[in-house]
Amino acid sequence: MATVRLDNVRKVYPNGHVAVEEASFEVGDGELMVLVGPSGCGKTTLLRMIAGLETISAGTLSIGGRVVNEVAPKERDIAMVFQNYALYPHMNVAENLGFGLKLRGHPRAEIERRVREAACLLGLEARLDARPAALSGGQRQRVALGRALVRNPKVFLLDEPLSNLDAKLRLAMRVEIARLHRQLGATMVYVTHDQVEAMTLGQRIVVLDGGVIQQIDTPMALYERPANLFVACFLGSPAMNLLRGILQGDGSGLALATAHGRIALGEPPQAGSLGSWLGRELVLGLRPEDLQPADARRPARLEARLELPEPVGNEIFLNLRHGPLALVSRVPPQPLPEPGSMLALGFAPDRLHFFEADGGARIA
Ligand code: ATP
Repeated sequence: MATVRLDNVRKVYPNGHVAVEEASFEVGDGELMVLVGPSGCGKTTLLRMIAGLETISAGTLSIGGRVVNEVAPKERDIAMVFQNYALYPHMNVAENLGFGLKLRGHPRAEIERRVREAACLLGLEARLDARPAALSGGQRQRVALGRALVRNPKVFLLDEPLSNLDAKLRLAMRVEIARLHRQLGATMVYVTHDQVEAMTLGQRIVVLDGGVIQQIDTPMALYERPANLFVACFLGSPAMNLLRGILQGDGSGLALATAHGRIALGEPPQAGSLGSWLGRELVLGLRPEDLQPADARRPARLEARLELPEPVGNEIFLNLRHGPLALVSRVPPQPLPEPGSMLALGFAPDRLHFFEADGGARIA
């Protein structure tokens, strides 16, 4: 296995479109790194540059310590799994799995052994004689993974490999990929636009927007300390609540003067570094699970009208209206007042996030 390292890698397409600005990060040996971001953010372009399927306009790409900018894809010792499985319809599973090795001239006995091993890892032993048309979506996806596995590459590159599967199968395959990763100790770069997939699979995540890396960290660190408003809103469902206002302060702590009233913020731990923001506009962020009906622990700080409770079984999303602003609170199952009722809501001061009103960078 190997590390993958990008130093100021940039991609400008021939039409002048800058798909990736200077990207720098390292995927550790055996690490599963997820690239996530909305459609068009440049994640596939980044992966294709690592694969060698796209030229690099500037910067350096190294795999296993060797600069590979000018190295052909087949010389990079990587294997790629795509969203469309591209299996050969006239070959059975065993032939599909072994085809890449056959092309490279490996001996038959070795091909058979490696195919058997991959089939065993992926639970495909009983389907080795089946043609792709006779397989379920999940089985086809496993064959596509298996084709990469038999190659025993230094690095696995996966581009939205689960997006053709239904929700239940996606979940099952996600667990399977995580298990495979652990079992193989393989270096993997995994592209998805799905933030839940990114959070559950990635050991670390690269968040991209508009071709620019927004933040790189572990899933929980990204969730707990998003570097800017984009990351704060992209990760987490329902998304973080945002309130814009002027920061105020008096003897009893900080407050946010919004267009719809004044919200007492208590004494957040960031208070020390917020001094220079007094009297200035900023954006307050509050995760739905941190905005709760007021109780002894979380005294009332703002009022909102309950518009629509959405029960999802183990919890309820309360869709609320504070003035014209939509807010969401996420609560355990409980009896609720009628829609249209006013609710007093509270939060703990240490659960607040603060962002610059211009540019959206995290404060403190
Ligand atoms: P998606 O999730 O929709 O696949 P992505 O994040 O993977 O999106 P890319 O496919 O990397 O995005 O594309 C990044 C940007 O580069 C997009 O704006 C896309 O339109 C543009 N782009 C991609 N390929 C080319 C090309 N060959 N020539 C010009 N622009 C391109």
